[in-house]
Amino acid sequence: MNVYMDNNATTQVKPEVVEAMKPYFTEIYGNASSKFYSIGRRAEQELARLRESVAKNIGADKANEVYFTASGCEADNWAIKGAALANKSRGNHIITSKIEHHAVLNTCEYLEKHGFEVTYLDVDESGFVSPEAVEAAIKDSTVLISIMTANNEIGTIEPIKQIAEVAKKHKVLFHTDAVQAMGHMKIDVKELGVDMLSLSAHKFHGPKGVGALYIRNGVRIDNLIHGGGQERGKRAATENLAGIAGLAKALDLATESLEKNTAVMTEKRDKLISGIKERIPYIKLNGPEGEKRLCNNVNFSFRYIEGESILMMLDMYNIAASTGSACASGSLDPSHVLLAIGLPHEIAHGSLRLSVSEDTTDEEIEYVLDVLPQVIQRLRDMSPLYEEVKNKV
Ligand SMILES: *Cc1c(COP(=O)(O)O)cnc(C)c1O
Repeated sequence: MNVYMDNNATTQVKPEVVEAMKPYFTEIYGNASSKFYSIGRRAEQELARLRESVAKNIGADKANEVYFTASGCEADNWAIKGAALANKSRGNHIITSKIEHHAVLNTCEYLEKHGFEVTYLDVDESGFVSPEAVEAAIKDSTVLISIMTANNEIGTIEPIKQIAEVAKKHKVLFHTDAVQAMGHMKIDVKELGVDMLSLSAHKFHGPKGVGALYIRNGVRIDNLIHGGGQERGKRAATENLAGIAGLAKALDLATESLEKNTAVMTEKRDKLISGIKERIPYIKLNGPEGEKRLCNNVNFSFRYIEGESILMMLDMYNIAASTGSACASGSLDPSHVLLAIGLPHEIAHGSLRLSVSEDTTDEEIEYVLDVLPQVIQRLRDMSPLYEEVKNKV
């Protein structure tokens, strides 16, 4: 059996999405900026239709509030750098959290090198950002708040609506990285009250390399890519019409089946969580339980062993998963998210993320619940730390 349980990293493109993309390679291949012949005008019309469809699915007032980008990272970079620079005359302070995606954190660090001041808010032991802490961090110089809708490692769903209210009360712009949330919970920009919102197609069964940034009309933001007049002159480059069609179709499917899909994913997630708890001792569930957890995310720390070793053993059983351990993060430190929720290094190193999709089967869940306890036991049997613990008991 081949089991893909890394849907927080990326997802399989749905066949309907591939079909929806095809005509834009072979038939409607005109440049949307070429208005003097029909195949160009056709591309322009299609682009407008797709933008309309995305806007409708995220609850935007107007289609022109949706800007297509080449990724979720790009949308995050644009929102933060663009809003910071455009509002520089009003202040230089930005508020974010310690558990944001690196697309947000590294962008903030970059801005710190260019005269901006950034507050990185702490989170509680489940990964929640408190709206009160956001409010307390606001100063006269604060121009932007960026807090993610849902965390990609431990699944925490943040109180975005409340934080948006705080931002609005203090007349500060509010951006949210909803890349992980899209397709896994209801996202309505008006209901959430956000000024900017990032999304990326490949996290909800669309193609890689295409994302979008919602920018509420009236938000001051600098242009991202300088060149032609595409995306209202804010992000030049000939539009990736096939990719945009894939994003729009994937979002359509995700929106249409949201209730059904989230119910399925929640059930699979909870089967994994309770099954692992029943079968394996010395573990810790990272992130919250219940409704405030992303419906497809499971993240456990297994004491006395290393996340990389778990992944390598799981790979031998053809199970694909992820870890917040150091080697995987490409540095000496384990995941910044696991450290921010207060895990000691040794426990953060033994983390495993399993993320399901609506296509995950019961057989796959059973297979993982069968294999994982064996893998953990075998690794623990080789662990000197575990040996000490056993001897003490
Ligand atoms: C995947 C992800 C991103 C980056 O999206 P890309 O399209 O891969 O650049 C940003 N933020 C979060 C929360 C993510 O999960």
